[in-house]
Amino acid sequence: MNITVFLGAPGSGKGTQAKRLAERLGFVHLSTGDMLRAAIQKGTDVGKRAKATIDRGELVSDSIMIELIQNVLSELPKAKVILDGFPRTVPQAQALDQNASTKVNKAISFHVDAQKLVERLTGRRICEKCGEPFHVKFMPSKVAGVCDKCGGKLIQRADDSEDVVVTRLDVYQKQTSPLLNYYKDQESLFQVEADAPVDTVQNDLTKILS
Ligand code: AMP
Repeated sequence: MNITVFLGAPGSGKGTQAKRLAERLGFVHLSTGDMLRAAIQKGTDVGKRAKATIDRGELVSDSIMIELIQNVLSELPKAKVILDGFPRTVPQAQALDQNASTKVNKAISFHVDAQKLVERLTGRRICEKCGEPFHVKFMPSKVAGVCDKCGGKLIQRADDSEDVVVTRLDVYQKQTSPLLNYYKDQESLFQVEADAPVDTVQNDLTKILS
């Protein structure tokens, strides 16, 4: 398996870029946030256990997340995979490294100025049907409130409200940003300037991935 990890604060554009790259370059895009939201919608056991934590903007436990991702990865032995939103803690990264077949090839850090993240998150809208992301100012849909891709309704995620966003950014700083040093030490860390226009970031990522 060939695993690339996208690392970055909430709102740094990991999901948008991962979706586009997966379609263009044949990667399997695995977003643990999307998986959890699907589990909540379906009312599964994991969904029930994770919902309150997600709504508060905190991290779901490592044990739940590691089991979730290992189950999915075990069904994709030969795939080229982009992990978007996993790992988010050092123990999650160690869990991937413990198994030779899930060792991370490249970790790409999405760098955005901290002040811009709140605006990027609170203006974000997603399609309730297909999950396609938009932004009211930076990436509006052609028709307000309607998904360009599938015609579904655009909604704001509950955890994109301003008070929860502050918690999520704090959690990123404390629990996830240590992963930058983790992958730097392994010499597998790359960085993109994620403030640039979507197509520029996409080109930079393509160079790193090919
Ligand atoms: P995201 O869509 O990646 O922003 O994830 C939404 C929420 O799902 C996060 O704020 C966390 O509560 C939870 N979540 C997603 N991935 C993870 C992870 N790897 N570890 C812990 N919690 C996660």
